[in-house]
Parts: sequence; structure tokens; C-alpha cells
Amino acid sequence: MKYLDEFRNPEVGRRLLDEIRATVTRPWSIMEVCGGQTHTIIRHGIDQLLPAEVELIHGPGCPVCVTPLEVIDKALAIAARPGVIFCSFGDMLRVPGTDRDLFRVRGEGGDVRVVYSPLDALAIARDNPDREVVFFGIGFETTAPPNAMTVYQAKRLGIRNFSLLVSHVRVPPAIEAIMNSPDCRVQGFLAAGHVCSVMGVEEYPELAERHRVPIVVTGFEPLDILEGIRRTIGQLERGEHTVDNAYARAVREQGNPAAKAMLADVFEVTDRAWRGIGVIPNSGWRLSSRYRDYDAEHRFEVTGIDTLEPAECRSGEVLQGLLKPNECAAFGTTCTPRNPLGATMVSSEGACAAYYLYRRLDAADAAPREATPVG
Ligand code: SF4
Repeated sequence: MKYLDEFRNPEVGRRLLDEIRATVTRPWSIMEVCGGQTHTIIRHGIDQLLPAEVELIHGPGCPVCVTPLEVIDKALAIAARPGVIFCSFGDMLRVPGTDRDLFRVRGEGGDVRVVYSPLDALAIARDNPDREVVFFGIGFETTAPPNAMTVYQAKRLGIRNFSLLVSHVRVPPAIEAIMNSPDCRVQGFLAAGHVCSVMGVEEYPELAERHRVPIVVTGFEPLDILEGIRRTIGQLERGEHTVDNAYARAVREQGNPAAKAMLADVFEVTDRAWRGIGVIPNSGWRLSSRYRDYDAEHRFEVTGIDTLEPAECRSGEVLQGLLKPNECAAFGTTCTPRNPLGATMVSSEGACAAYYLYRRLDAADAAPREATPVG
């Protein structure tokens, strides 16, 4: 396959692994931020091929997983209302709320539809002027621009029966929160290449400098991951902490100016709760005052929601890299993709789902290793 096979070339992979083995002299812990990277790592067994000194810690970069329970419950409440067409990407339908999920709402008569683009939801709104159409806008800097553009288009076209239930989150404040945690073991980051293709890398040098932690912008194919690890280990061994772009084929320093301008027009930065982690200052977006009329929370006044996380689920620790999925007592027993207790077992980017899908069932494999503090 053109353009993909070259990033899965086993011979190049072996060479990169040899370089990593030749460079590493002591234990290091590196966090891959994105759930897509986690799936590549587990699917291809990259963590098992690395020298024992290198531990990969899975980060909070799964958009479905970090959407707070309260927002899920608000989605369920809105979707159950008569006259509402609730549109979402498919992976949100099985994410458990406090007592049900969107599939259950659909089974009980709610009009819940899977779409492949927020613009599909806008077309549904245009075609159903007597119905309220809501799109569930979740995710990181990658999904925020098209959602922003859809709201912009709704306003421009005068489509008033469309609104967005917003739960967008931003990566740099999450890195800040992880580094500020007293339990943090992370010494280097593989930053999410697709996020940086939108936002650029401008926010990272200050973070790298202040926390004395290397940040390497990394792609999603096996060789991308190995190259990101190779560069991170190189910095750690040399005592450096800079931002390095190992995904230059997609990421420019300034990112995508048009997407950033759209975000700045439609959204404003706000504090945001992350499921299992809590509120992280300035870590999300909400609709700006110019677009407040398109805010589903505002339009439907969903209040009085009491949320209850299942006590067994330890996805908060998984999302912070404090626990490997197969160290959770419920993993593969009371929690499976068919009967998930937490979103990390549902999402196609969730770490628990990756461990289950690729049969990492043995918790003994996951024991954390001692890492040397940076600095
Ligand atoms: S295995 Fe299930 S219960 Fe355990 S942390 Fe993951 S999602 Fe939660």
C-alpha cells in the first residue's frame, strides 16, 4: 500500500529498536498522549519489543474516554426528549452514562442517529425544520475545527434548529496537569501528531522547559512511534528537554492557521472536567458568546443531573497513566467491550479496549518499573 507500507517496514523497525537499545542506559518512562498511538503500540507489541528499561505509559488522549459522565448524562437527557434528533459519531452510543447509554435511549424510542460528519447533522436540521437537531461535539483539537465550522455554517445559513452539545478538550493543559500530579512518573512525552497538525507546536516549548521534559511530536504508524521513542530516549540520555517534531510530513510549526482562526471565532477557552480526572483549568472549549444560541446546554437547560461513576471502574487512574488496564480487577471479568463499565473499554481509542482486543490479559506483564526522576 503506497504511503503506508513504508511506515510499517520491519527492517527499518529493527534498526530503530537497535538504536534505542544501544542508547538506553537506565530506566525511563515515556507517555504517549494519544489513544490512537496506544492502539498502535499494543497492536504491534511495540512496548514488548523495547528494552526493559523503557516503559510506555498510556495517556489521557482518548476523546470518548475523557468526556465527563455529567455530559454523557446531559446527552442522554436531551436525546430522550420528544422532537429531538440527536446525532453523534458511533463510538459515543455505547459509552455508559449513570444508568443507560444512547443505544438504550434509541431502544426506548429516542431519535438517535449515527453520522460521519457534523455537517451531516446540519443537513438533517435543514431537512427537518420542525425538529431540534443536536450534534454531540466531543474530542480534542482534531475534532473541534469541523464542529466549529458547522456552527459557523448554521449561523451563516440561518439554520436555527441546530445546536451543539460541546465537550471539547485541549492537550497542553492535560500535560500540565499530569506533570503537576504528585504521582507523576512521566519523563518524556510523545505528543499527538494530529493535534499538532491543527494547533502547531507553539504551546509546547514553554511546557518542556518548565517541567524539564522532552516532548516529541509523533505520528501513528509503528515506525512513527519507534522514531518518537528513539528521539525521546536520546534527549533523556543527553539530559535535554526540547520540543522535537518527528512528524514533519504532517505537522508545521504554526499548525493550520485557517482551522485555528475558526476555533478562535466560534469557541472560547474554559475550564473543563475530564472523566475520572476532574477539572483541569483552561483545558476545554465552549461556544463563545457570539454563538451561545447554538449551545445545546443553553437551549435545553439540562440541569439537576446527579452522576454516579461505577465504584469498580478505575479508568481515572488508567487515563492518568497510574494503572495499566489489566491491573484493574474488573478487566476482562465484569468489564468487557460487550459489557463496559467505563468509557476506556468502549472507545476505539480506549486503553482498556486495546488491552482486551489484543489479548493483554495478564496483569503481571504490566507491573510498573522504577523510573529515574528527570532533572
Ligand atoms: S477495565 Fe473496565 S472497569 Fe477497569 S478501568 Fe477499564 S473501563 Fe474501568
